[in-house]
Amino acid sequence: ATPTAVMVGTGVAAKNGILIKGADALERATKVKIVVFDKTGTLTKGKPAVTEHKVFPPDFDFEEFLHMAAAAEALSEHPLARAVLSYARSCLRVTSSNLNLALPGKALDREDDEDDDEAGGPKNTAWIRRGHDAEGLPGRGVKCWVVPAIPLAAVGPQPSNVRVLVGNRALMAEEGVPISREVAEYMREKEGEGATCVLVAVAQSVVGAFTIKDPLKPEAMGVVSALRNMGLQCHMVTGDNWRTARIVAAQLGIINVQAEVLPAGKADAVRSLQQTHKAGVAMVGDGVNDSPALVQADVGIAIGSGTDIAVEAADYVLMRSDLEDVLTALDLSKKTFRRIF
Ligand code: ADP
Ligand code: MG
Repeated sequence: ATPTAVMVGTGVAAKNGILIKGADALERATKVKIVVFDKTGTLTKGKPAVTEHKVFPPDFDFEEFLHMAAAAEALSEHPLARAVLSYARSCLRVTSSNLNLALPGKALDREDDEDDDEAGGPKNTAWIRRGHDAEGLPGRGVKCWVVPAIPLAAVGPQPSNVRVLVGNRALMAEEGVPISREVAEYMREKEGEGATCVLVAVAQSVVGAFTIKDPLKPEAMGVVSALRNMGLQCHMVTGDNWRTARIVAAQLGIINVQAEVLPAGKADAVRSLQQTHKAGVAMVGDGVNDSPALVQADVGIAIGSGTDIAVEAADYVLMRSDLEDVLTALDLSKKTFRRIF
């Protein structure tokens, strides 16, 4: 393309909130045949919310369950962690009559409450019991130690510290925590609705689960079919579990799915598509987790101005989180080059 065409192309893009990092990227975009989407935050709104919970042992205290989960998730930046925190906080607010007495730290600031949801999580964390020696496990969850506030019959003689794990099946498997038939059945049912279950284990046994739903972006289905009409193949790669992933993909008409993929695995997935299809592959993602895949792709497209690392790794940055901009971006690069050749 001539410098003028590129300037015009990038100029039009910029007006649409699409930043293109150089003429190279623009040219590679004309050769894309496969578009790989991350699920959470890319095809879905990325605003997961807990829709329900279940505590499994009949004698396990519900408030203690919430506190344990919150203590662990407070240490994570993951959107699922924020969903669990908001939920725990709103449950505790209505169930505790003597919340301020029961909790260490300062009283819950009610005036602060309203702005949590917009920001995606509770800012005021005074109510959270602190965990210690926490560890975030990308693609799996978090683990930490928590001091129980009340006797927990379910865990035996009162320990001073209990191990709390919050995350998925892989985390439980890794830590040697068994998943009972009851828990497995609960998960199967909820995942069949396209929800994600986050498990909570205390002292090596699963005591409860949160069911979390993240609605699809309204334009997602239209964009997938538009890409298909342009002759492009659509894929979905996610760290989420297979059952949820398949349901979400089916809702969008995406046939090619890879699930339970760890962050490094997303880049491998892109690489293997490049090799087997010998074609240009675009990756569309929003998160830190997607950065290696954005770098690996022929065209990395970061969506939503969210994560700095993703923005840095990408060739295209879509400032809005509207998937229609993926179409605009690919279309624009074609137009820019058609003007010349
Ligand atoms: P995605 O590719 O869908 O953006 P991630 O790689 O971020 O997913 O996470 C994959 C899975 O790991 C999640 O679906 C969840 O089961 C689990 N997970 C990761 N972090 C957390 C956390 N802080 N709390 C609970 N579960 C988590
Ligand atoms: Mg994501």
